[in-house]
Amino acid sequence: MNGKIFIIEDEPSIIQLVQHNLEKNGFLVSSSLNGNDGLKELKKFQPDLLLLDWMLPDLSGIEICKNIRKDNNFKNLPVIMLTAKGEEEDKIKGLDSGVDDYLTKPFSFNELMARIKAVLRRSNPNTVSDNLKFDDLMLDRIEKRVFRDGQEIKLGPTEFRLLEFFLTNPKRVYSRDQILESVWPNNVNVESRTIDVHIRRLRQSVNLKNKKELIRTVRSSGYSLI
Ligand code: CA
Repeated sequence: MNGKIFIIEDEPSIIQLVQHNLEKNGFLVSSSLNGNDGLKELKKFQPDLLLLDWMLPDLSGIEICKNIRKDNNFKNLPVIMLTAKGEEEDKIKGLDSGVDDYLTKPFSFNELMARIKAVLRRSNPNTVSDNLKFDDLMLDRIEKRVFRDGQEIKLGPTEFRLLEFFLTNPKRVYSRDQILESVWPNNVNVESRTIDVHIRRLRQSVNLKNKKELIRTVRSSGYSLI
């Protein structure tokens, strides 16, 4: 499983616990302790899902949710609101603001994981599936194998991660910086040239004879899976 999750929550202990467990489950996680920083950071991070605390020192979760819904890039971002007990009445207001689901504190990580999976499955079936598919391409995340039209394609580990990344969001154009952050999360010294080299290798591997091109170069923007 993978995907990017952003957390806005003012209790460091919750962030720590949730972040640690999500990372163990293969998610890329970033977080913020208040609403204003959270709004800025999340726009840079481009998450697949937002975990949002209801009561924050500056903005409320609802205000944040309303704010991001105005932004075209985040109109459909799945949001799970973390609420404290006794905020039931406010839940109804929350639903109007475009929150996808709720979780009342204290919650177990398993509960949270179940909600995250359900919400992600609704918004992007590829994010939680073991097999990623696009056109005649299939990537098996468990066995780490790739097939095109039934024929196995051998990829190096970096090319595999690149393809996995593209398959979680087909047709979306990614800049080299976005690719770098997601595919080489711990290495800031990778040059954009290196990305081009791996893209070229990936392209050569998946473009079997008589098959159509699957990776598109978008001039001055980046790359996308067709
Ligand atoms: Ca709080």
